[in-house]
Amino acid sequence: MALIVQKYGGSSVADVAKIQSVARRIADSAPGHHVVVVVSAMGKTTDGLVSLAHQLAPVPDPREMDMLLATGEQVTIALLAMALQALGFKARSFTGAQAGLRTDRAHTKARIARITAERVRAALDAGAIAVVAGFQGASDEDEITTLGRGGSDLTAVALAAALKAELCEIYTDVDGVYTADPNVVPEARKLPRVAYDEMLEMASLGAKVLQARSVEFAKKYGVTVHVRSTFKPDAGTIVTREERAMEDVVVTGITHDRSQAKISLLRVPDRPGIAAQVFGAVGTKNIVVDMIVQNISRDGYTDISFTVPRGDVARAHTLLDEIGRAVGAEKTVHDERVAKVSIVGVGMRSHSGVAARMFSALSKEGINIQMISTSEIAVSCVIEDKYAELAVRALHDAFELGREGVRE
Ligand code: ASP
Ligand code: MG
Repeated sequence: MALIVQKYGGSSVADVAKIQSVARRIADSAPGHHVVVVVSAMGKTTDGLVSLAHQLAPVPDPREMDMLLATGEQVTIALLAMALQALGFKARSFTGAQAGLRTDRAHTKARIARITAERVRAALDAGAIAVVAGFQGASDEDEITTLGRGGSDLTAVALAAALKAELCEIYTDVDGVYTADPNVVPEARKLPRVAYDEMLEMASLGAKVLQARSVEFAKKYGVTVHVRSTFKPDAGTIVTREERAMEDVVVTGITHDRSQAKISLLRVPDRPGIAAQVFGAVGTKNIVVDMIVQNISRDGYTDISFTVPRGDVARAHTLLDEIGRAVGAEKTVHDERVAKVSIVGVGMRSHSGVAARMFSALSKEGINIQMISTSEIAVSCVIEDKYAELAVRALHDAFELGREGVRE
């Protein structure tokens, strides 16, 4: 009997009626299969728990935070098991620890060390549907840990790998991965297949379909992931290893990210050690820097610009004022009105002139490029925020992504 893992996100189990409809959806797949279901906390429960904690402590103790956050998923597993039982199925719920998901001790962002899943296997052998709490595990000291926001995806993929599942289905409120955000580009198309690396770029560039770590894990262990809608029966998007034909298309998708801000240090003396000093300081404050651009130096001075999450910009600006003075910069400026637009595709490995096509599409719309970065399969530009949607539409057109049969 084939084993399948299905994961349902928070919006799919947001209330009792939705839990019942998820139970019916599971019931449809159950005959003839061993089914392991992974669930998130109901709706926005986790956000609510985070906000409770912050009302009591500006920086809550990480161990207690995990103790708190893990309760969200525990509610869902019990309710879903009851809903399945009400439909006449045998079902048994398990916390992450009971499912044998062992992690390191890094509270709130733990990494999975191993999964034994003995009790899950035993439940399946006894003919039950196993319902496992996503996002949580336990350290070897039996401390409850969580895997980072969005971590239920990772639980599902990791369980699929550990149990050698035939299929790992991620059910969510979108029905797959699109060539661009359909709210921005009405002619965006659902991609039937995307490569792990494309999905990773898209996840880190702002397309929030799958948690990035779960995609890394899927790639490492060769788990094929099917992203599909909880509310519609259609096939979604298969995230899988790169296939030859995938390279025929140059660009697979356009993403945009409006959650960043740009900080610039102007007229910094150009000598060894300055960048190390600046980014060393930023790193110790746990501010994650994304793009960095340094100009060529003129008369011994240069400008350094970089992007940080918008939520960190105030902190970063105060810090950079200080560092800027220490390294002799003329001044530091920040700009929150920026957006990053990117083109992604494994086809870029074998096609040339892709970046030029991107720049010319932006220039035709009169959009100025402030920063550029590239990877093997992506090119990103920072532009003024108010042009973000226009840029996405222009790029979608320029690379003809609305066309039938871009990738089958
Ligand atoms: N409930 C957790 C969160 O909201 C985990 C998840 O949904 O995947 O981040
Ligand atoms: Mg989620």
